[in-house]
Amino acid sequence: MIKQLNSLPDGLLELTADKLYTKIDNHTLVHLNGKVQRPIFISILQHGDEYTGWDALKDYLNNHQHQLPRSMTILFGNIQAARFNVRQLDNQPDFNRSWPSYLNLNDPTANTMREVTDLMKLRKPFASVDIHNNSGRNPHYSGINSLDQEFLNLASLFSDTMIYFTSPVGIQSAAFAEFCPSVTVECGLSGASDGTEQTHTFLELLFNQYNLKNVPGILEHQRVFKIHATVKIKPEIDISFEQDNIDLELVKDLDVLNFHQIQSGEVFGKLNKQLFDNQVMPFVVTDKNNNIITDEYFKLADGKVCCKSSFVPAMITQNIQAIRHDCLCYIMQPIDVAFN
Ligand SMILES: [Zn+2]
Repeated sequence: MIKQLNSLPDGLLELTADKLYTKIDNHTLVHLNGKVQRPIFISILQHGDEYTGWDALKDYLNNHQHQLPRSMTILFGNIQAARFNVRQLDNQPDFNRSWPSYLNLNDPTANTMREVTDLMKLRKPFASVDIHNNSGRNPHYSGINSLDQEFLNLASLFSDTMIYFTSPVGIQSAAFAEFCPSVTVECGLSGASDGTEQTHTFLELLFNQYNLKNVPGILEHQRVFKIHATVKIKPEIDISFEQDNIDLELVKDLDVLNFHQIQSGEVFGKLNKQLFDNQVMPFVVTDKNNNIITDEYFKLADGKVCCKSSFVPAMITQNIQAIRHDCLCYIMQPIDVAFN
């Protein structure tokens, strides 16, 4: 059974994310009453080291101590992992891969997420917001699982850069997309003040909306992308951003390219002589059907790995573990959508 409260425990708003465990448990739902009844669902700390959501929510709640413009339900995610500033504990699954989906998982976390989803569906949320951080320097962006106008408008309140995505499965925003406009917001590096401010501003804007069908002030410079391809580095290739006596020395600060249109010739890394002489391409680019399309995007020239065509990369990370575990980056494709 998940725990539900109708007010915040005393003193909670004074705590940093790593101290929340002293007053609240994992998966606690807190329902706060506001002037307009239909609630906004806010999910924070599904990943324990991504605490911008709590910082911004605290600022918002401190600003509206007398009355909220609209009711709110907060889901406190992985408070135990937040205690140690880690994404999840060793014995835990990824919370944001455990929500209801066609996979129909059956473990304690998935059952809890199903319970939260069923409970919230009955409350007919006005919108659902799941707040995250990421490990590379990206412009703050929002992720949506539907291109319906209400989803686009909701996402636009946070950022003019949006990603439409349908995988991975088991994420919160996709589960809630079945019954309300929902968004995942990615606020850059954990705790960075610009991300906290942008998220706070987003909450202020969102809580003052009466409907999401027409949101005044949404401009035409919004950019919506979808993931077209994934760039991985072959596991047998040793990589570093600092060392030069290695198979592939990646360009320092490569993550500044995130969401920029880069041109043919842009250098991603320097290959050691032996590999270059043998024309070993260290990257593997795959499309969504797992076809290998590396040749369309990268080439070897002058001992370097360079872009072969112009494209927009996203989520480039300098975290070697993240590169190994996940990928170096994604290649994005713009989608045309009409805003009104
Ligand atoms: Zn996350």
